[in-house]
Amino acid sequence: MATLSALVMLGNAVWASYQVQRKQLIDSTLEANRVYANKLAQTTQHFVLSAQQQLASSASHIGRHLDQPSTPDEEAERLKQQTDSFNSVAVVDAAGVVKAASPAMPELQGKALTSAANKQALERRSPLVSDPFIAPTGNLVVTISHPVFDAKGVYAGYVTASIHLKEKNVLHTLLGTHFYRDGSYLYVVGRDGKLLYHPEPNRVGESAIRNEVVRAVSQGRSGALHTVNSHGVHMLAGFAPVPAVGWGVVAQRPVEATVAPLGGLMSTVLRNAAPLGILSLVLIWFFSRSISAPLWQLARNAQAKDVGEAISKVRLVNSWYFEAAQLKRAVLVSFRTFSERIGKLDVAALTDPLTQLYNRRGLERALSEFSRSGAHFGVIAFDVDHFKAVNDRYGHSVGDEVIAGLAHCMRANARPQDVLCRFGGEEFLMLLPGVDARGAVLVAERLRKAIEEHVFPEVGQVTISAGVSHFPDTEGEADLAIRQADKALYRAKDAGRNQVVLYQKRSRSDLPPAS
Ligand code: GH3
Ligand code: MG
Ligand code: MG
Repeated sequence: MATLSALVMLGNAVWASYQVQRKQLIDSTLEANRVYANKLAQTTQHFVLSAQQQLASSASHIGRHLDQPSTPDEEAERLKQQTDSFNSVAVVDAAGVVKAASPAMPELQGKALTSAANKQALERRSPLVSDPFIAPTGNLVVTISHPVFDAKGVYAGYVTASIHLKEKNVLHTLLGTHFYRDGSYLYVVGRDGKLLYHPEPNRVGESAIRNEVVRAVSQGRSGALHTVNSHGVHMLAGFAPVPAVGWGVVAQRPVEATVAPLGGLMSTVLRNAAPLGILSLVLIWFFSRSISAPLWQLARNAQAKDVGEAISKVRLVNSWYFEAAQLKRAVLVSFRTFSERIGKLDVAALTDPLTQLYNRRGLERALSEFSRSGAHFGVIAFDVDHFKAVNDRYGHSVGDEVIAGLAHCMRANARPQDVLCRFGGEEFLMLLPGVDARGAVLVAERLRKAIEEHVFPEVGQVTISAGVSHFPDTEGEADLAIRQADKALYRAKDAGRNQVVLYQKRSRSDLPPAS
């Protein structure tokens, strides 16, 4: 989870930085295009104003020298040659008839013009810049004109200079060939939104008024916009008006070309961030694993079925930090408590409450352990003589005390490894591992004597009769040895009590049935 969140954070940081950089690139491109469009608009404005000034001085010269017939020709020629700004220059009289033209246009010479620009010039008698129109020569043109007045101030026509929009013209010189490989370009629109200058020559003269940038610049506004061009390409456009003539200049660059460097930039960022990033991820993974490992091991071992095995496994868990160490301690404490409680239950189930000796179940457990280990052992079975009489005379609770005292005597005459068991009411059993028949007889005799000599409170003296057997001397199963000891015990009773009898094989049929 930690590694995953680190990855998500890293991804998020890269994505956010990409977005910020992208926005910054777009904003700065919009601003650069706006500034650029403004500058070119100023240049264009400057050109138009200076062209108008040239025409004005020419018009005044013609007005002063109208009496000389060569003046229009000379002036047209001079204007055309002098500036190189115009594709053609013409001098037109007050009736709209072409008096002179440069370059020479014999087909127009002496003819009256019929264009809207001509009509407007004659009517207004003031400096004008026309909208684009098709000239009689067939060229798409924009004209700049200035009225001519004679020495007396009488209107005598106008001087007009035309720019052929579809040919190489002054706008190309002014605006340069701003057609870059990355798809950036600029264009100029007239008052009516018609294209005056465009990198695609066949679009010159076309109306672009439906384009929002063109509409904005036609309204005299300047600024920058994210727009879509006629080819459906997303563009970042800067635009500025040319106030003197109502034109507009638009400089634009494709969004894609603008943000293209970002891909490389981001891969550089990733490349540079990778070593430290990978190192952090590895460290996160390593520490998360180290932190979770003890918890995981504790959790896994908490399910173990064998408590003893679980305790030894939990002990091996490397709980290297405080919380895990505390948990480990808690798990161990609870396991130990659990196992102790089970142990106590076990002991309770296997012992006789009055004497704290093994009961029959305890004896069975001991027998099965002996048979598992293959140990040989002696068996002593003994029973109190005439115990009924003790009960009858002193009462049952005194009888109980005698039974407890007998257990005490047994313990005093046994080794730690001997198994002592209360077999029935006042009948007891001893298993003596590693002791042969003779040894067992000696132990039984010693015990019989000890009991005989013991003084029981109130009761005084009691005696016992004991039977002894041995496994595997006496062939058969381990529990057969017990029955054999029991059999010998009966024989001791029969023989007059207060004695020890070693089991001697007579016939199998005289053995008591297995209990
Ligand atoms: P003998 O063994 O010598 O043949 O005679 P006995 O009188 O001891 O006979 P038996 O062993 O058959 O009788 C056992 C008696 O022990 C019967 C019962 O009253 C008594 N007894 C058995 N269990 C207990 C006990 O837990 N407490 C007491 N006080 N008496 C018990
Ligand atoms: Mg008895
Ligand atoms: Mg008995």
